[in-house]
Amino acid sequence: MPMAAASLSPVLPSARLTDNHGRVIHDLRVSITDRCNYKCVYCRTGEMGAQYPELSIEEYLRLIKLFVGLGVTKVRLTGGEPLLRRGLVELVQDLARERTPSGDPLDLALTTNGHLLAGLAVPLKNAGLNRVTVSMDAVDPATFERITRVPGSFQTVLHAVRTALAAGLTPLKINCVLLRGFNDDQIEGFAHFARQEGVVVRFIEFMPLEEGRLWTPEIVVPLTEIVERISRVLPLARLAPRDASETARRYTFADGVGEIGIIAPVSQAFCGACSRVRLTSDGKIRTCLFSQVEHDLYGRLRSGAGDPELREYIVQTVNGKEARHHIGEPGFLKPSRSMVHIGG
Ligand code: SAM
Repeated sequence: MPMAAASLSPVLPSARLTDNHGRVIHDLRVSITDRCNYKCVYCRTGEMGAQYPELSIEEYLRLIKLFVGLGVTKVRLTGGEPLLRRGLVELVQDLARERTPSGDPLDLALTTNGHLLAGLAVPLKNAGLNRVTVSMDAVDPATFERITRVPGSFQTVLHAVRTALAAGLTPLKINCVLLRGFNDDQIEGFAHFARQEGVVVRFIEFMPLEEGRLWTPEIVVPLTEIVERISRVLPLARLAPRDASETARRYTFADGVGEIGIIAPVSQAFCGACSRVRLTSDGKIRTCLFSQVEHDLYGRLRSGAGDPELREYIVQTVNGKEARHHIGEPGFLKPSRSMVHIGG
């Protein structure tokens, strides 16, 4: 056997990506830019722009295909703001042609602030995008615009949400990050919004991933409080999880109309069921949002590594995925990059 082949363990087409904690990794989040057209107060300081280089669309495609060949079935494109990235529709089109090792199409999703979505919803749907998640942190226009720091952004995003629904990008999820004293007065309004607009609103506990220094345990609005507050105005009924790696606890309302979800990485961490791995806009693998190390997949590609070598690197890297995060514990270290530069 030639030396090069002997040093690589074989990666079979049907291989599944697993880590050394027994988890199967089938969910890839890819940031295609760390530029953003919003300066949400809890995310960015407002001073910094993009910090990391972007790969070409062909390079993202090549790297994503490697993960798909290793068993990734769900790809979420994110950023920064992914709709700022030229070539996005073509990337979606190419990804929609990919098949998992078992022959199924990928589950293709996108997370966006929605600012440019009205004009892109139909092209993205036609290109093969399955679903979209739009970030909205308030249903009150003034609060919304205080958070995004972009005048007129509420109406722009609301129009985009309705356009995306009409285009069939469903179920459409709205992500709302809650911060005490900033937007926790929006909780009940969002419950009504979910029912009126036919969207799934998902409240997310704020994590220490901001550019500045805002996070404290007290600023986090925990799952129990959200459930309690909504139940006071609209009684909730818990929905059964659809699969073990589902991040959101899902609820419907007593009359069965509408759905909300709560993602509670701080108060009820779900690391034990994590199925995710991330690729940053500059081609580094991050095995956890809170990783202290990054793995330079693109560096290997650029220096001429072939697909077998890159696959082997992915397999080894994912195998070393962290058991869990340590938010709120003594000695917790923020990662070197903030959410906008990792890819949310
Ligand atoms: N620009 C896109 C958007 O706004 O959806 C995609 C990137 S953004 C970083 C992805 C998601 O991460 C958004 O829903 C945002 O609210 C959320 N996010 C940002 N910082 C966060 C934090 N510290 N904790 C929890 N979620 C956060």
